[in-house]
Amino acid sequence: MDSQIKHIHQQLVSKEITCTALVQERLDLLKENTYNTVNSLLEITALELAAKVDAKIQKGEKIGLLEGIPFGIKDVYMVQGTYTTASSNLLKNYKSPYTATAIQKLLDAGAIPLVKENCDSFGHGSSSENTIFGAVKNAINPELVAGGSSGGSAVNVAKDYTVFSIGGDTGGSIRQPAGYNNIYGLKPTYGKISRFGLMAYASSTDCVGPLAKTVEDIRIILNVMSGKDSKDQTSYNSKSISEKEISTNTIKTVGYFKNFIESKAIDPDVKADFLASIEKIKATGIKIKELDFFKSDILVSTYYTLAMAETASNLSRLDGTNYGNRIEAENLIETYAVTRSENFSEESKRRIVGGNQVLSQGFSDEIYLKGLALRDQISENFRKDFQEVDVILSPVTPSSPPKIGESLKDPHAMYLSDAYTVGFSLGQLPTLTVPQGTVTGLQISAAKNNEELVLKFANFLKDTI
Ligand code: GLN
Repeated sequence: MDSQIKHIHQQLVSKEITCTALVQERLDLLKENTYNTVNSLLEITALELAAKVDAKIQKGEKIGLLEGIPFGIKDVYMVQGTYTTASSNLLKNYKSPYTATAIQKLLDAGAIPLVKENCDSFGHGSSSENTIFGAVKNAINPELVAGGSSGGSAVNVAKDYTVFSIGGDTGGSIRQPAGYNNIYGLKPTYGKISRFGLMAYASSTDCVGPLAKTVEDIRIILNVMSGKDSKDQTSYNSKSISEKEISTNTIKTVGYFKNFIESKAIDPDVKADFLASIEKIKATGIKIKELDFFKSDILVSTYYTLAMAETASNLSRLDGTNYGNRIEAENLIETYAVTRSENFSEESKRRIVGGNQVLSQGFSDEIYLKGLALRDQISENFRKDFQEVDVILSPVTPSSPPKIGESLKDPHAMYLSDAYTVGFSLGQLPTLTVPQGTVTGLQISAAKNNEELVLKFANFLKDTI
């Protein structure tokens, strides 16, 4: 059965395994792991919940599909009573007073949270090295980075420490680590899943999404988490996607961005593997269309201009007054300054300074407003593309994961490594990483709220390339 969730559900229902044993086994694996994926374990809660599931099964009561399924949560989601650190010094001792809507829906469905997962601090990064908990190691080769910012979540899934994990994707943070660790990771359409209770990085592109080992598991989790939430005015209702509707391919035309593939920055192997995948798709009778798109450096600079502006604004609330480790100084202004400069990482400070710069008087027209105008043009480009093609296929990254330590030396190079993911974030499009095609996988994107096309094509690719 091509769904880990369904497989484990069967094992629980048939009493082949107990939920307590399952949860204990995964907790032990998480505890012993040397990949730095864990910020905190939710051991007591997890075992209590598991005992309840076992009691239900013993009594012969029916359990739901997600009931008893162990999962992980990137440490940027509020889960009441748990440490929610954003992998930062500032919030090292912060405990959530409430639970994020997306996570609450999973809890209501009976899924069991095991762990708050290591990530780049406040989502700032592409390698999961920007964290006070130690760099997350890649699941395939521990000398390499795990990717980021949802690196801990991707590695936990890849190593089977969790059945699925919930990451956050602002500019690629689910898709890129999914690619680096050869699993599936979905950034849904902006607004499809409520952001309430997700620590804000760049609010106009922040998305909640699942990482898992199969397309079917992604579908199941997406359906549970989706929907309008009165606590997030950008969220909306969408219909649930059935297993049947994504089982047979109806996609007739696939597009790809010529300039992504012709870029000087792409690794020759990634390019060759991508083009080989395109040939295999073509051989099935699907039409392939080359598309024009903005240059990668324009995408990266537009994204970082807007993301830095938004994060500078979002993080201004973290001054030690209501949240976080306050460091007292001579007066209030000094207290803010010392609290922030001592507790934010170098990378977060770089972004706060950059963001305040592009928003400041005299610069905002020339930089920030230009960024917004470019974003509109990018969306318009996508709108036209999707009149001609059903889905767009791209590599996830231009090259394979770097060694741990390398990205920290050159932040600009790290920003450029996001070249293929950030455009789809600015367009707010549903985009899924599949662990096939190139060393870091492929991304499938569709027009807004067309997740079923993305999942359908992922199922098709599984048997095609
Ligand atoms: N790497 C990108 C950044 O640092 C994306 C991060 C994210 O999606 N949270 O902004």
